[in-house]
Amino acid sequence: MSESGIEKALLEKLNGMEPQALIKWSYERYGERAGLITSFQNTGCVMIDMASKVAPKLRVITIDTLRLHSETYELMDEIEERYGIEIEHFKPDHGRLERMIKQHGEYLFFDSVAKQEYCCKVRKVEPNQRALFTVDVWITGLRKDQSEHRSDVPKASAIVQDRHEIIKLCPLVDWSEEQVREYINENDVPNNKLYEMGYTSIGCKICTTPTRPGEHKRAGRWRWMNQNEDEHKKECGIHSKGGGI
Ligand code: SF4
Repeated sequence: MSESGIEKALLEKLNGMEPQALIKWSYERYGERAGLITSFQNTGCVMIDMASKVAPKLRVITIDTLRLHSETYELMDEIEERYGIEIEHFKPDHGRLERMIKQHGEYLFFDSVAKQEYCCKVRKVEPNQRALFTVDVWITGLRKDQSEHRSDVPKASAIVQDRHEIIKLCPLVDWSEEQVREYINENDVPNNKLYEMGYTSIGCKICTTPTRPGEHKRAGRWRWMNQNEDEHKKECGIHSKGGGI
């Protein structure tokens, strides 16, 4: 990712817009080149509901690591039925995945931070990069209160991936957990059953676990890592360097 030529004035305008207006603008201006990429956490579900009202044909994309919880796959089915949409799945490259598993085993992420990053690269980061080549506007569910690393995330920013310029939008960036929950309840939005089981952040099976009261929302990620030394590893690489779950 590097500097972009996308106009500052446009980003300023987008930074001042409300979530629904941003979603509407994205589809009206970019059509099929705009995409909501979601891992089906609550913010993603809220934005799918918003899109159903203002941009029902907006592309909904997921990075399917092939290691998601069955509850997440069930939610995707429910959402497709409820909103009459077809979710696009970007999956790991078959050859790379096979080579990784053959060389290091299915559960390599337990061995070291480097192998966890390698697994995330093959299963998440690379498929996300492929998805990004299909869009000029990337709508994502990042919120400032999800982790200290996200506290300064802007609502609208410009990124460049291999010379491809993309406007990255986080329409709910300023929303609190309570606001998200309130929207879900008021609008009867389908949401992930894992939240009822104590999960506060949702990702791959094994690598994501429920959290205890008082713990940080992303504390359940890669729980076996040393919490002090590897606290920075609570990101999978998709949203690093201004960049994507
Ligand atoms: Fe692999 Fe775990 Fe990363 Fe999923 S979260 S891609 S299983 S290391």
